[in-house]
Amino acid sequence: MMEPVEHIFDSHAHYDNERFDPDRDELLQAMHKNGVEYIFNAGNEPAANLVGIALAEQYDFVYCGTGIHPHEAATVTPDYLALLQKQLEHPKVKALGEIGLDYYYDFSPREVQKKVFEEQLILAKELDVPVIIHDRDAHEDTMILLKKYQPKGIVHCFSGSAEMAKEILKLGMYIGFTGVITFKNARRALEALKVIPTDRLLLETDCPYMAPEPYRGKRCESSMICETAAKMAEIKGLPLQQMIQITCENALQIYNIK
Ligand SMILES: [Zn+2]
Repeated sequence: MMEPVEHIFDSHAHYDNERFDPDRDELLQAMHKNGVEYIFNAGNEPAANLVGIALAEQYDFVYCGTGIHPHEAATVTPDYLALLQKQLEHPKVKALGEIGLDYYYDFSPREVQKKVFEEQLILAKELDVPVIIHDRDAHEDTMILLKKYQPKGIVHCFSGSAEMAKEILKLGMYIGFTGVITFKNARRALEALKVIPTDRLLLETDCPYMAPEPYRGKRCESSMICETAAKMAEIKGLPLQQMIQITCENALQIYNIK
């Protein structure tokens, strides 16, 4: 059992996911008891974006993003950018995302992924909103586009090298880590974590995915973030509560939540 903590900001979650259908409200209502003060629900396709917005309307501590994930890039309709723009006017929609490239699954052709990513980066710049970047096995092309557009925002579920982290830091972006840092084979992620200053770090679950040890393989939810926070605190040489506090402040900053 871990010491009780407070002020947790889970900066990336997917409570729209059907795996939460049986007990979504029960879980969200218990969050404060578990020290979770804020949750950011990342968007990824039109229906999920709408569920995220509905959750943000229902729960005062839930904020959300809207965007088209690379998996869905091939399915966009001609009006998708106009729709995202409209949704970004909502007071609780705080970022455009998640967006990016996924060359691991390649669910959409790479050229289409790049086009839809680029269009959303341009929109984010125009609207001056932060982006949430998904990059899986696409580090090179992701960095080319981030350098080209220089958006503000977050590279989430970071899986790159320490060198790549330094490039992202130069762009002024934040970097989020999931339960992956608690896994036994996390050496590379921990090397990256070491070079990132605490004022650019975010904690996230990416739930229902990426449950940290000792829950690996189970359905993840926000209170499990404590295991990830403990690992991050250990690597950064900080007390657990201080690590949680710093990452909470960082998330409030980048999502512009007052
Ligand atoms: Zn995600």
